[in-house]
Amino acid sequence: MRVSSLYVHIPFCASKCYYCDFNSYVSTSDVMERYLDGLDRELEAVAAEYAHDPLKTVFFGGGTPTMFDSRQTERMMKMLHRHFRMSDGVEISVEANPGTVDLEKLHVLKEHGANRLSFGVQSFENDLLVKLGRLHDRDAVYQSWELARKAGFESINLDLMFGLPGQTLEALERTLRALIELGPEHVSSYSLKVEEGTPFYTWHNRGQLILPPEEEETQMYQMVIDGFQRAGYEMYEISNFAKPGHRSRHNQVYWRNEPYMAVGSGAHGYVDGVRYINQKNVPEYIETTVQGQRPVVEQEVIEVRMQQEDTMILGLRLMEGVSFARFAKQHGVEMLDVFGDTITRFEKLGLLAVDETGVRLTHQGVFLANEVYAAFLE
Ligand code: SF4
Repeated sequence: MRVSSLYVHIPFCASKCYYCDFNSYVSTSDVMERYLDGLDRELEAVAAEYAHDPLKTVFFGGGTPTMFDSRQTERMMKMLHRHFRMSDGVEISVEANPGTVDLEKLHVLKEHGANRLSFGVQSFENDLLVKLGRLHDRDAVYQSWELARKAGFESINLDLMFGLPGQTLEALERTLRALIELGPEHVSSYSLKVEEGTPFYTWHNRGQLILPPEEEETQMYQMVIDGFQRAGYEMYEISNFAKPGHRSRHNQVYWRNEPYMAVGSGAHGYVDGVRYINQKNVPEYIETTVQGQRPVVEQEVIEVRMQQEDTMILGLRLMEGVSFARFAKQHGVEMLDVFGDTITRFEKLGLLAVDETGVRLTHQGVFLANEVYAAFLE
């Protein structure tokens, strides 16, 4: 399958949130400028190296891509179009944080083809936002939202987190109500994970971070599902909800285990059965790329069996599951010949549903998804 998707990583943030283990740094405008020099060279190299079709999806993720000022944003968008052709109807998504956009920057994005924004809102409760180390507050969400609509963005995702320290079911309900009232076209909703190397990890180990108990977190997840489904959103992935016609096409590339190119420090790409990882360190990334070299530090050929496992594990995140036809087309073998025993076992347990078209998680399976995924690993 020829690649037609591109991920661009922008590793800059205004400050570091307490739970964040993403590849993001607080930096200066000068470093950001030089990062763009490197990105320009890497885009050129990647476009030349991989046989690709005009792009169908592009995702600027971070970090916070909207940390660039308007001029830098214009530079970033222009270099994308200089190195790659876009297909008709391409989806170009840009991650942003409330409080990091103004009308000028949003117009620049729009004029250069960006048609989907994704705001890291996380909560509408100011006290919880402070606990997370987020810089924005509820008012900033509304201001950025209005600016985005004013600039003409008709497809907006809002990220939401639950299972937060001190969060109650009532607080989550208030956030759900506020979010649904705004009416974004898409919502991604994840429970907090305490990751090693973060302040949250240290505080958790010291007993200073009190999280909702597991049963309550499960109740929160159920509340999120019910809330969005009642409001007319389709739950199309275990953590993602969309109004009709607004599924994230870029993320579906990942979940369908299809290829994508990736550029930027620490970015991961998957092309021609090879996964690669870029240099994470920003100065070293800049140094390597401005010299015209690819900043790849790790490459792994994904063996056939592992590709098949990935197709199942990633595909079962989607509510539509994995179709027999798609699996056979992607791997040249029948899914049931490879995973028949595992599928039957989990079907009997009521965690997988199987029909003539394919396999998907049941409602119960959604809550025990990690156990199902693990069973597909050899
Ligand atoms: S805004 Fe996002 S990427 Fe940046 S520090 Fe916070 S969680 Fe990490």
